[in-house]
Amino acid sequence: MARKWNSTPFLIKKGILRFLKIKLEKQSNLLKSHGSYGCISIDFDVTREDRFEPNRRGTDILLELSERYGIPMTWAVCGRDAVKDNKSYRKIVGCSVKQEIGVHTFSHIDAFKTEREEFVRDVKMCISSLGLHEPRTFVYPWNRVRYLDSIAELGFIAYRGKERIIGPPSRNENLWNIHPVFYVDSKVVSSYPIVKNIVEICIMNGAIFHLWMHPWNVGYDDSNRIVSNFLEPTFRLLDKKREEGMRIATCGDIAEEMCKIN
Ligand SMILES: [Zn+2]
Repeated sequence: MARKWNSTPFLIKKGILRFLKIKLEKQSNLLKSHGSYGCISIDFDVTREDRFEPNRRGTDILLELSERYGIPMTWAVCGRDAVKDNKSYRKIVGCSVKQEIGVHTFSHIDAFKTEREEFVRDVKMCISSLGLHEPRTFVYPWNRVRYLDSIAELGFIAYRGKERIIGPPSRNENLWNIHPVFYVDSKVVSSYPIVKNIVEICIMNGAIFHLWMHPWNVGYDDSNRIVSNFLEPTFRLLDKKREEGMRIATCGDIAEEMCKIN
């Protein structure tokens, strides 16, 4: 449960955390009595041809970890790429641990280079191509956030903004921004101690620990090191932290909970 509130927002300026803002001053009404959340979102997209296999391999790795530690995850699925690799998409949907299927547009388009109507059309195409009913979470390609009001009109309640923030979710156009905290790429192999510290900060302050990645970040040829040195201990840590009151949930579940208490 939340214990003490840090009243000063600050920016960690060094190394891997230089973009991470800690904003805890405003959250007393949100998560203070609610405890912290752990959350993982995964952008399922194949933005380069040579990422097809790593994407497929990474999807298998992540689903396997999810099942081993009972960690639910949110998948931001690019419709076009789910159609191309239906085998992987079906595995996500059929996983024995709850996986939220979110939307990442059909064609992986940049909202800032697309007119509103075309953007909405593409999002709708993604929803129908994935066979979704009332998807809750939207993730913008490259986290380039625009047309939030249209996304809300389509029924979404959660999105992932660009800015990395440790704190509560924030509300924007009736959507909850489940702020990202830590991005997993091939450079994080030795970053588990950092993540462990961030998780502690989140638990102490009732904040959200939100890890995000692409399957192809972790599914390249030599993925053993990132799995054994980073992913496996991180999943194990999140599983264990439930004992200290951290709730592991999908972005959509967190947003639903926020709607209830606000
Ligand atoms: Zn993407």
